[in-house]
Amino acid sequence: MFTKILIANRGEIACRVIRTARRMGVATVAVYSDADRNALHVEMADEAVHIGPPPARESYLVIDKIIDAARRTGAEAIHPGYGFLSENADFARRCDEEGLVFIGPPVKAIEAMGSKSAAKSLMEKAGVPLVPGYHGDDQGIAVLKGAADAMGYPVLLKAAAGGGGKGMRRVDSSAEFESALAGAMRESAASFGDQHMLVEKYLLTPRHVEIQVFCDNDGNGVYLFERDCSMQRRHQKVVEEAPAPGIDESTRKAMGEAALRAAQAIDYRGAGTVEFLLDRDGKFYFMEMNTRLQVEHPVTELITGQDLVEWQLRVAAGQPLPCRQGALSINGHALEVRLYAESPEQGFLPQTGTVEYLSEPKTGPHVRIDSGVRQGDEVTANYDPMIAKLIVWDETRETALARLHSALSETIIEGLNTNLDFLYRLTSTREFRSGDVDTNYIDNNLENLVSEPTERNPDLLPMVALSLALSEKQRAEDSARHSSEPGSPWHLSSGWRMNQNARQRLAIRIGEDEHEFVTYPQKDGDGICYEIVLGEQDWQARGHLQSAAPNTWTMRVEIDGHRQSVHLYRHGDNFSMHTAHEVLHFSLLQPDTGEEDSSSDNALNAPMNGVIVTHLVEAGASVSKGTPLLVMEAMKMEHTIHAPADGTVNSFHFNAGELVDGGALLLDFAVTSEPAK
Ligand code: ADP
Repeated sequence: MFTKILIANRGEIACRVIRTARRMGVATVAVYSDADRNALHVEMADEAVHIGPPPARESYLVIDKIIDAARRTGAEAIHPGYGFLSENADFARRCDEEGLVFIGPPVKAIEAMGSKSAAKSLMEKAGVPLVPGYHGDDQGIAVLKGAADAMGYPVLLKAAAGGGGKGMRRVDSSAEFESALAGAMRESAASFGDQHMLVEKYLLTPRHVEIQVFCDNDGNGVYLFERDCSMQRRHQKVVEEAPAPGIDESTRKAMGEAALRAAQAIDYRGAGTVEFLLDRDGKFYFMEMNTRLQVEHPVTELITGQDLVEWQLRVAAGQPLPCRQGALSINGHALEVRLYAESPEQGFLPQTGTVEYLSEPKTGPHVRIDSGVRQGDEVTANYDPMIAKLIVWDETRETALARLHSALSETIIEGLNTNLDFLYRLTSTREFRSGDVDTNYIDNNLENLVSEPTERNPDLLPMVALSLALSEKQRAEDSARHSSEPGSPWHLSSGWRMNQNARQRLAIRIGEDEHEFVTYPQKDGDGICYEIVLGEQDWQARGHLQSAAPNTWTMRVEIDGHRQSVHLYRHGDNFSMHTAHEVLHFSLLQPDTGEEDSSSDNALNAPMNGVIVTHLVEAGASVSKGTPLLVMEAMKMEHTIHAPADGTVNSFHFNAGELVDGGALLLDFAVTSEPAK
């Protein structure tokens, strides 16, 4: 085994490779651009070498700089990750020439699969089924158009050198062919410096199913089953799972064996993925082979119990495959979602900015997070805007999906737009739940998938009002319990105020919109029923809030006789409410529990998770309204907590330096004067 390797990549995949290397006792060298000086992968590696300015073409893509970094640090091998130089035959060749081991396939195998048309010719010879189409060298317009006319529309034009969906055009009729061809060629020339085109029959409702293969230097090869990556936006994957839902054993075996034939036809070595389109009728067609580790490899790891990076290192070091086909089996079901800094509402436009706050679910046997970004890190326009991959495992697809939803619910990212809610909604749809999806699902359902949650579920608005009314009530009850004057009318939670109507006003913001509700609590048997009024609309709502974890509640709610159960998360004044199908984010603007200035009701609670910086008065001090009492720090900003009224600070619940959860009561305060009328 190697003693030291260099990882020619960044972000989550660099961190992922470092983790396995460390476990195997292999030292690691990271490389970094100016933009990544403080990045997680740099911190995790044993050593790191600076390779230049932020643009990848001046740093991560410069072969000489990577080779120099390996030389300087004495690394024996280079793991290229995915993207960047991972499928660059010149780079693999340079490694060979320099006596460095390229942790990937031989140069010839990369070259063989580098062109989609050359790859198809090879696969045809190896007896691997192809999508009907034309992949010849004659690129005359008449030849290409003749092929399209003969196979019938729709057809798909593809750039032979393509990747990432670039240089691809669907053509629906003969009349559109020439202008579509010109467009696809221009895009391909601009992206890949080549305009060689393929014409394929466009399959209308295929699934994208790919096979993970692995080969060693002794001629052994195995397939580690399939991944379904049909959930795509703009032909790019967003959700991946293994095994593929509903696939039968004979199709699995046929695809696995076809994929191995494909790999063996090019003397493959290491990890590779053979991508197929699987049609409704069970027929499958070769699309391309990716000669590297894929972004979505963790789902395969979770169902097979293997570490594919360990396999890569072993094979690259000349060892045989850790096991044979017969020893591999599928255990349970795994799902992965790609969390991107992007705006699904704006056509998945990448977003940049600082991750101001990041809270991730707890990891363990059921939840894995492969991330390269921490709170405070910046997502820049220089690199892929993927923030993290969330991967879950369970015995069945249904239970894995439930795990995915709770993991998504527990993920909070503030500071920049992400596709988090989109992922929740997408994986909650009836079609996804039933496993009945194809590669066009997102495009065909986009309008619904990105519309406002409150448009799809009109009960959400009164649920928000009810949740706030109930949480204010609970908070008031908690304060009353901690108070030296539990009977004080200050703490009454029914909404009752001296000489006041029992109503509560609540202002919230959802996206750009502000809504102001009025809630009227009414005694209803043993509990309280609320009339909720929003402009012209009103609802009858009752419910029960139960604390499930810090800042997390489940709420049983009934709106005009319709019962549901939702989960609620709080982070300062920001909330997320998750139903079975939706997630809604909202912020509380001015919690108003009466007509007096009642910001006092939560003025003594931590506005968000943070640390106590200092107390500003002694316990026992008598203070007047507005006196600064303590300072806490959250999200790198200081927040001062002021006296809500004239009164006495009986005690502080936290000392300087202690961590507090958002919403926690910070001190015991007794009001000495009557609340203002
Ligand atoms: P790229 O290398 O640019 O990612 P691929 O050839 O891997 O392109 O195709 C990407 C996606 O495009 C596939 O996963 C599938 O959704 C769609 N696609 C490709 N070929 C076809 C086809 N013949 N018919 C329908 N959809 C296709």
